[in-house]
Amino acid sequence: MKLEEVFESYKDYIMPTYTKVPLVFVKGKGSRLWDIHGNVYLDFFPGWGVGNLGHCHPKVSAAVRDQISKLIFIPNNYYHIPQAKLAKEVAYRTFAAKVFFCNSGAEANEGAIKFSRKFGKGRFEIITFENSFHGRTLAALAATGQKKYQQGFEPLPEGFRIVKFNDIEAVKGALSDKTVAIMLELIQGEGGINVAGKDFVLALRKLCDEKNLLLIVDEVQTGLGRTGKYFCYQHYGITPDIVTLAKALGGGLPVGMMAVKKEIADTLQPGMHASTFGGGPVICRAALATLEAIQKEKLLANASKQSEHLFQRLNSLKNKYPAIKEVRGIGLMAGVELNREGKPIVEGCLKKGLLINCTHDTVLRLMPALNISKKEIDRAINILDGVFSIAGSS
Ligand SMILES: *Cc1c(COP(=O)(O)O)cnc(C)c1O
Repeated sequence: MKLEEVFESYKDYIMPTYTKVPLVFVKGKGSRLWDIHGNVYLDFFPGWGVGNLGHCHPKVSAAVRDQISKLIFIPNNYYHIPQAKLAKEVAYRTFAAKVFFCNSGAEANEGAIKFSRKFGKGRFEIITFENSFHGRTLAALAATGQKKYQQGFEPLPEGFRIVKFNDIEAVKGALSDKTVAIMLELIQGEGGINVAGKDFVLALRKLCDEKNLLLIVDEVQTGLGRTGKYFCYQHYGITPDIVTLAKALGGGLPVGMMAVKKEIADTLQPGMHASTFGGGPVICRAALATLEAIQKEKLLANASKQSEHLFQRLNSLKNKYPAIKEVRGIGLMAGVELNREGKPIVEGCLKKGLLINCTHDTVLRLMPALNISKKEIDRAINILDGVFSIAGSS
């Protein structure tokens, strides 16, 4: 297919739900992507946070190739080995006793919401936060504290109280005898890389313990090494009751997961919840390969090490350009808040072969693969520097 034919086919046959960048990619390897013309791009936002291993990690590709020739699908009323192995590997890395497999972040959060309602036995209200993002299904959308995603889809399911982030008094003010859970991202990804304060998170944990509420941590974007630890909650010294995962878990393949602690692990019984494709053999092999790569290639250590370099270089840009208001984040999840729209900067980088993202209009988001090198970070920052020197010096 020629470039124009690709664009035409999308225009004629695909719903225009995405604002699109006019690039057609054909190949990826690590932090590099090739477009249809053979141009190479340095990808500092691989797969919207999916690509913790970068593109086409050889371990993931090999595992998928092997599994796909043996058994592609088996329904969840039978057993298969990859799912058994994966659940154990995840449980071993988290606090979790039991997991539920699904196919996306929204579905994982939807599962956590349904789980909470069964657990609540009549209590159903969940407290969530302004600027949060939990997905696009109706309940996940109702939990999402951003009006722009909700408009026109009302009525949304009831039972969500959305309060100010990092404000424990606001949480306490929203409690009722129907409250069953508090759900949050420890770093709000789509909301602008807003980091939860440590005191706030400790206070939430305490409140949940006192009131018998479930603390649900949405690690769909922060999980699997993104912050230099397997899970972002490990930076806070707390244990959630439920954690949801998706994006990076499958090494590029669609997988979601809800993991819960031991005491509540048998809340859902046969027939209460399901997902036909959840935890299929191929994605489980991909996820096992992903976890193995993170461990064997010491990617948590690399993420922490490169994080220091990334933040040091971003902060030096901040000192140089008044357009940069703040640099924030943990590990390799970095936000650069500007005093202006970020779109021209993203477009300027794109022209120079660097892919980054802008969220919440004014926050540049950089989330390179965990196996990124110092050299690649330097290249990306030099490109950003060049773009800011033209577009951001006032
Ligand atoms: C992306 C994201 C979701 C939704 O995941 P999908 O796989 O797109 O449904 C939910 N929560 C957070 C924090 C996310 O970043």
